[in-house]
Amino acid sequence: MADGEERDGDGQGIARRLKAYEGLPAVVSGTGKDPVNAPMIRHWCEATGDTNPAYTGPDAIAPPTMLQVWTMGGLSGHTGPTGRSSAYDELLALLDESGCTSVVATDCEQEYHRPLRPGDEITFDAVIESVSDRKTTRLGAGYFVTTRMDVRVGPDLVGTHRFRILKYAPAARREKRPPRPRPVVNRDNAGFWEGVREGRLLIQRCTACGTLRHPWLPGCNTCGHLGWDTVEASGTGTVHSYVVMHHPPFPAFAPPYAVGLVELTEGVRMVSNVVGVPYDEVRIGMPVRLEFREYEEELVLPVFRAEETAGQRSREAAV
Ligand code: ZN
Repeated sequence: MADGEERDGDGQGIARRLKAYEGLPAVVSGTGKDPVNAPMIRHWCEATGDTNPAYTGPDAIAPPTMLQVWTMGGLSGHTGPTGRSSAYDELLALLDESGCTSVVATDCEQEYHRPLRPGDEITFDAVIESVSDRKTTRLGAGYFVTTRMDVRVGPDLVGTHRFRILKYAPAARREKRPPRPRPVVNRDNAGFWEGVREGRLLIQRCTACGTLRHPWLPGCNTCGHLGWDTVEASGTGTVHSYVVMHHPPFPAFAPPYAVGLVELTEGVRMVSNVVGVPYDEVRIGMPVRLEFREYEEELVLPVFRAEETAGQRSREAAV
């Protein structure tokens, strides 16, 4: 029980400390890097496809949704006195310490008080408006932090920008990988997968011109004929090309892994895994041999095993 009490005590302590930041500044005396200007307005309109005539010509105004643009620091960030307050940095550090090391922007709200025009010089301040209680989300448990930025031209408030982030402790990663995606079996390629089930790699052959093809298609790429039969691949081939997947990580696969484009002896190419060799030793021209590997229940896939080469044999003999 003592354990539970301690945790509750800690939780309340953190919540109180976080709440103490409400109302403190997040950004002090910010200055826009550039005045509101026509080139940035034009780029924005081009990027968003906005052709509203109000945004061009001698009396152009800036699209209201550009509000945040005029306050952003860009890649180089804001320099000098402009920037995040020490209070905001402390708040983020406190959240980090409490285990909420991840961050995601959740939403923003803007209010517009008057249009901005080229030449307007922007200043801004931001305040930590609220820190939520601890919330449980799908990403993990954490706190929503809302800041409100007031944007001014001279003494006039021209707009406000409310920005909400979730600082959270990432939920524990699932130990078990989700199942591999299943091959899409359709009318055009059903015969291929039927062959795989029987432990045979079938290549489509045009019955008019004899051209082999893979992947399976309804018609012949060479002559357009729709008739076909199959030949069984001998199972030998070479790595024609390959990539090593590091990123993005697909949940069902453990990177890094090599994806090979294998040229079968019959001349067609297919994408598959090269197995039996570390991912970083797969090479173009490497001889490979077909095998059928059961990855999961009812998922058998054709893969290609690197064949032992003369070089490997002599290296092993030397060891
Ligand atoms: Zn043909």
